[in-house]
Amino acid sequence: MILYACSSNPGKLREFALTPPAAVIEPLPALGHIPAPEETGSTFEENARLKAVYYSAFTPQLIFADDSGLEVDALSGAPGVHSARYAGPHATDAENNALLLENLAVTTSRSARFVCVLALARQGQVLQTFRGSVEGEILPAPRGAGGFGYDPLFFYPPFGCSLAELTPQQKFAVSHRGNALRAMSAWLSQEKLQPHSN
Ligand code: IMP
Repeated sequence: MILYACSSNPGKLREFALTPPAAVIEPLPALGHIPAPEETGSTFEENARLKAVYYSAFTPQLIFADDSGLEVDALSGAPGVHSARYAGPHATDAENNALLLENLAVTTSRSARFVCVLALARQGQVLQTFRGSVEGEILPAPRGAGGFGYDPLFFYPPFGCSLAELTPQQKFAVSHRGNALRAMSAWLSQEKLQPHSN
């Protein structure tokens, strides 16, 4: 079964490739030519659903959308759904990380979590959503060169290092996205959905 991923984020795409083999995941063909929808939701679930419904109009196949981000308790859950654009509409990962550290400079509370919601859809209908999360703490400075986004600032206590210091497989085994993808994979195996005949 082919399952199209509606994301052009290279960090996410590398992690989708590690999914257990209930489906072959590939980027939605021509994704680069489809204008991205505005992410107007106030929750990860709303945004994952709206992206999945939008992109499912471009193919008869099963597709899924990932909406994910970082929730920091001392910042009342920010950056949350604004994680990708925390420091501005075209912000780089380094700029987002720098702003996060600046906003946490005066607090000692560092607890945070990554959240990922996947919405699985076909032809305008959301079939199911899957949520994964991972708890950790925000470091005072970046550590490690792996992963993407806020990984260098996200300390994972059980392993005693940041997510950017893990191999892709180690991160996938414990991450929000790994947990959500495993749940989706299990659901797909159970449902035995038929691929579209086109
Ligand atoms: P989205 O594309 O609107 O879902 O935004 C996702 C943003 O959340 C990314 O651009 C990153 O800034 C952040 N993010 C999500 N997942 C991860 C992760 O696994 N590691 C680090 N940052 C992440």
